[in-house]
Amino acid sequence: MVLVEYNSKNLKEILNKRSSQIVLRGAGTLGKLVLNGLNQHSIKVDCFWDDDKKKQGKIYCGLKVLNTKEILDNYNNANIFICSNYFSILIPELLKKNFKNLFDCYQIIKSTDYSKIINRTKNEIHNFGDIHNNSPFNQNPIDIDRVLDLHLTGLKTQNSQNYKDDSTNNFNVKYIDLVITERCSMKCIDCSNLMQYYKNPENATFESIKKSVDIVMRCIDYLSEFRVIGGEPFINKNIGKVINQLKKYKNLSKIVIYTNGTIVPKGYNLESLKDDRVSLDITRYKTNIHSLRNHEKLVNLLNQNNINYISHTADKWTDSGRIKKYKRTENALKNIFLNCCVGDVLSILNGKLYRCPFSANAHNLNAIPYNEDDVIDLFDNTDLKIIKSKLIKLYTRKDRSEYLTACKYCKGRDFNAPEIPAGIQTKEVLENPKFT
Ligand code: SF4
Ligand code: SF4
Repeated sequence: MVLVEYNSKNLKEILNKRSSQIVLRGAGTLGKLVLNGLNQHSIKVDCFWDDDKKKQGKIYCGLKVLNTKEILDNYNNANIFICSNYFSILIPELLKKNFKNLFDCYQIIKSTDYSKIINRTKNEIHNFGDIHNNSPFNQNPIDIDRVLDLHLTGLKTQNSQNYKDDSTNNFNVKYIDLVITERCSMKCIDCSNLMQYYKNPENATFESIKKSVDIVMRCIDYLSEFRVIGGEPFINKNIGKVINQLKKYKNLSKIVIYTNGTIVPKGYNLESLKDDRVSLDITRYKTNIHSLRNHEKLVNLLNQNNINYISHTADKWTDSGRIKKYKRTENALKNIFLNCCVGDVLSILNGKLYRCPFSANAHNLNAIPYNEDDVIDLFDNTDLKIIKSKLIKLYTRKDRSEYLTACKYCKGRDFNAPEIPAGIQTKEVLENPKFT
């Protein structure tokens, strides 16, 4: 067992025995939660450590964000809290650099009373409320249970033999994108789900969605989050039926609907949202009049009906909305896959399951060569055992550094990728380059 076992009672003693220094690997939401948790347990943290160049050298939550060289020079024996869910990438990297005192964040977050800090105002550095100042350290309003659940599932789904944590051998998955429509009410020229390439976009039928989800959920022991997406998911009038279907799965923790806020649901579709396990993730786009106009209407309606949601304004995106053929070495391809921030978001689209959203849409558009190792046709095989073994193989690819065919045609989505303005609208459909 590589990660140090601890609980909130013995943590201070364990930390003291190992090292006097504490570093948080990851200056994001998890890092902020852990910092507050450790402070509440009277444990002092030295600094953050983050690979994002935009964060390095800056102050985050009152602490300096250092780069790898600075950490190796000054904190090479520190206690490291892995404030990220990318265990399968970070643990081998930390071990290679000879760090021995590695901690996950589960127990510390679980034992912290965040009610004491959750209502802080916008201007406070430990703010957990709304986005402020469009700074690179923006925090979405967070649902701590959701963050914690994803962290735990991240722990359970790291698959390397050396640090396998899940003795039950259960197959746990963090996220699955469920694409219920190729249609969108907006036309973003840089949409990372490649909506700008669809000439005749269509809604998925309820029957196809139900059948796919049913097969997948029978192969998985536990899923943290179904992310219902599109295009714009509220365009599909069957969204309420889909949500009510998802609620039936006991092995599913959360259902999150990702919307651009242009469509305000009503009737049966609105009713389906009234459930503790359901929430909306609303992106407000300054570039689209409907997103701006309906945002307030939508938020008011959700408040009136006590429906969970978070809302944020999109300003910057990573530049990942084009299908192109890139010249890359084997090593570069492996790296692009390993460092990808959506490389473990499985996607269901039109009866098939893919490893990432780009692979899903590029295949669906018939724009890249079909690789049967990258795609599971859920309707092709009636034997669940075969589907499950393919699913496990697809989901554990990062551990084997087996990049996808799609990675040859994708710009990549690591945290240091160049940023572009979000939500620029177009009237044109982009030419499908068809590398098939
Ligand atoms: S709102 Fe823009 S980014 Fe979102 S799915 Fe539609 S086209 Fe893509
Ligand atoms: S194709 Fe590769 S690099 Fe692009 S999003 Fe998918 S996993 Fe990431």
